[in-house]
Amino acid sequence: MTVHNFSAGPSILPKEAIEESIEGLRNFKNTGLSVVEISHRSPQWEETMVEMENLICELYGVPSDYAVIFLGGGASMQFTQIPQNLLPEGGMAAYLKTGTWASNATKEAKFWGKVHVVASSEDKNFNYIPKGYEIPSDAAYFHITTNNTIFGTEMHHIPDSPVPIIADMSSDVFSRPIDIQKYGLIYAGAQKNMGPAGVTLLIIKKDWLGKTGRNIPTMLDYRTHIDKESMYNTPPVFPIYLSYLTLKWLNKQGGVSGIQKLNQQKAALLYNEIDRNPLFAGTTAVEDRSLMNVTFIANNKEAEDRFDKFSEERGCNGLKGHRSVGGFRASLYNALPLSSVEYLVSVMQEFEKTF
Ligand SMILES: *Cc1c(COP(=O)(O)O)cnc(C)c1O
Repeated sequence: MTVHNFSAGPSILPKEAIEESIEGLRNFKNTGLSVVEISHRSPQWEETMVEMENLICELYGVPSDYAVIFLGGGASMQFTQIPQNLLPEGGMAAYLKTGTWASNATKEAKFWGKVHVVASSEDKNFNYIPKGYEIPSDAAYFHITTNNTIFGTEMHHIPDSPVPIIADMSSDVFSRPIDIQKYGLIYAGAQKNMGPAGVTLLIIKKDWLGKTGRNIPTMLDYRTHIDKESMYNTPPVFPIYLSYLTLKWLNKQGGVSGIQKLNQQKAALLYNEIDRNPLFAGTTAVEDRSLMNVTFIANNKEAEDRFDKFSEERGCNGLKGHRSVGGFRASLYNALPLSSVEYLVSVMQEFEKTF
């Protein structure tokens, strides 16, 4: 039976990239060595790092005043490293509280300075994106989470901000074009839409650093990794490699604008079925629906319990919703083919007939 992977993260990657990474594990660039055995100072690896950075700059149109770096520690590490590097002593940062990850980011920033929450959607269990808030012009930065993986909302409009925007794009990175100039920093843990767990991508405006008045230990200072092009110490070689192969695949799909069209098509297909099928309902405000994580519930307890089993028996993997929302969550990341969404819709229709 074919397994369709709707897992929220770690999640589906292009088969082609996985196959190529297996070849790299066996024999990397005809060196006779595995990619995980070769020195990270070897010309073959250094070339891969340069190609990876160039590919990212090409995909997102990153100008030369930004740096691309790869760090360990996951996106969660950035919740503390960001204010450590960018929130000046005695300063204040603004945060938009749109879900669990945004709340965690807010919590960690408080270790480094004052935090002003401009708006929150916690009153409705984060089922919408707040609008019409004001961003204080004396904030060091404005932090947003562009896609809320757990609750299934996504920011379809990025506000104009009087201060640099920092965006956690862990679960919608490379899913659509962005205007990088709107941001001072974007970051993403790889394991949702870019690669396996173990590496975090940062794209950061270089002239913004070094202004906190704080001493930062070497490994935690972004400037260390910018100066050494992410090779100050041994980088997470394999996660970077498979992310690189995934982005090469993405480039062949027409880059971020090509994949955006497919992502729109996939999400529309599933939301249409959720709205049509009397057994299911969406959980979020319609205008804020995520194209990456589609959250929905069954209309009664019996249907919920039965669909869980019904869909799993038919090869739909990872559909169970996060415990804080319940119900179901279908993640439709870049690598998930349209045929998997068509299949899920057919399973939902088949399920309807059994009632
Ligand atoms: C998964 C996720 C995180 C946490 O990522 P880790 O790499 O596990 O620390 C942070 N933000 C968002 C939006 C996520 O989806």
